[in-house]
Amino acid sequence: MENNLPQIDTSWTLFLDRDGVLNKKIDDDYVRNWQQFEFLPGVKSALAICAEKFGRIVIVTNQRGVGRGLMSETDLHEIHMQLMDEVEAAGGRIDAIFYCPDITDEGSTHRKPQPGMGYDAQHLFPEIDFAKSIIVGDSSSDMAFGKNLHMFTVLIAQNSKPNADLVLPSLLRFAELL
Ligand SMILES: [Mg+2]
Repeated sequence: MENNLPQIDTSWTLFLDRDGVLNKKIDDDYVRNWQQFEFLPGVKSALAICAEKFGRIVIVTNQRGVGRGLMSETDLHEIHMQLMDEVEAAGGRIDAIFYCPDITDEGSTHRKPQPGMGYDAQHLFPEIDFAKSIIVGDSSSDMAFGKNLHMFTVLIAQNSKPNADLVLPSLLRFAELL
């Protein structure tokens, strides 16, 4: 199954989930500050490769810790500024980060699997074509988000699970296959 990735060029967009794809998830909690943010192995190298291949790279992340009042939007912005800086220092690029603070799926237009953050990204970058987009995530809601927008879906997981076009162990493996 490893080679069914579409042939991409710079007219393609990469949508990335954050926690569990770029950085280590914290069990039963949220990454509340930069000190708690830990890049997964190979992620910065992977993003340097992706920066050359994709026209746009955006992060779409559910952050209900904000909605729950466990962290502020300022805390989140600070994490994201540092994240973008470190990725850039390693030769990569994140064009924009979209987050959804909503606590539940109910009534939310933006919490993944709802497609709202995808439309927001397209509003900011009108050249984004969802048929020429890939989502890389580690949860079924990421895959459903991608399917709702007719993207190619890549699940980061250690063992094969259904509901994704491709399952890979890491973002680095994904980048190596491009
Ligand atoms: Mg995740």
